[in-house]
Amino acid sequence: MTVLRGKDTLLHYSLLEGQARAVLIDSTRLCAAARRTHHLSDTATISLGRLLTGAAIMGDMLKGEGSSVTLTVKGGGPMGALVAVGRPGGVVKGYVDKPFVDAEDGRPGSAVGSEGSLTVVKDLGMGEPYVGQVPLVSGEIAEDLCAYFAYSEQVPSLLALGVRVGEKGIEAAGGILVQMLPGASEAAIQSVEMSAGLLSGVAGEIAKWGPDGAAAQIIGHLQPVELERTTPEYRCDCSRERVERALISLGAAELESMIEEQGGCEAGCHFCNRKHRFSADDLRALAAECRRPRGESKE
Ligand SMILES: [Zn+2]
Repeated sequence: MTVLRGKDTLLHYSLLEGQARAVLIDSTRLCAAARRTHHLSDTATISLGRLLTGAAIMGDMLKGEGSSVTLTVKGGGPMGALVAVGRPGGVVKGYVDKPFVDAEDGRPGSAVGSEGSLTVVKDLGMGEPYVGQVPLVSGEIAEDLCAYFAYSEQVPSLLALGVRVGEKGIEAAGGILVQMLPGASEAAIQSVEMSAGLLSGVAGEIAKWGPDGAAAQIIGHLQPVELERTTPEYRCDCSRERVERALISLGAAELESMIEEQGGCEAGCHFCNRKHRFSADDLRALAAECRRPRGESKE
């Protein structure tokens, strides 16, 4: 039962007459796309899938065009670093350093490691991005993101992220975030806290009922009012122009040594594995470009 039909769904709800809010996502297909793109092991599918699911939720909470949130987890484990970027609409991309690593003890967090940090960079498309960093709690991702919400954003939050992998690949993936809003009553806080146990079954509920049914099961008793829904997806926004800008930032000397030593270069995108090729002439043009604005040539 692993035919993935249809599309993923991301739903926003107001809860308890505006005292809390929830975001629920069915991220089954976008996690499957990440697994295909990067040939992820089962453990890497779970860890990166969780991070991508979190990035989709956080990305869709940013409203401005051109804004993005980048989540970087460095836990010191055998899987290396994990990176996920989320944008409005729940559009995500991500990668993991060692996609083939599997957890020996079956705990994805031990492959990620927990001796390190989660860094969150929020670029709102204007001025300096906001950067927050918290020590990892467990490397299991949801707990780590919750710590970020608590310490860096100071918003009391419950978050569950789940990716179920079976013999034939991803069976279901999803997540749910519930946040208290300013002015929530003690009673509202208590009703949300008492629902915490329901959240962790999110992937199973999505597998059984789909996203709307899962929301009914998990937050149905909190007077949910649907505010909006979007169709999240895995999509890379890389382009040749973007790679050109990155090459220019290396500086003329570096580009010239690439011309001399390799007669050109090939830049692979970490997020989609697309290859962008530059001939010696292409690089010469870029080297000329990087001399122009600041006049920093080293002759
Ligand atoms: Zn790309």
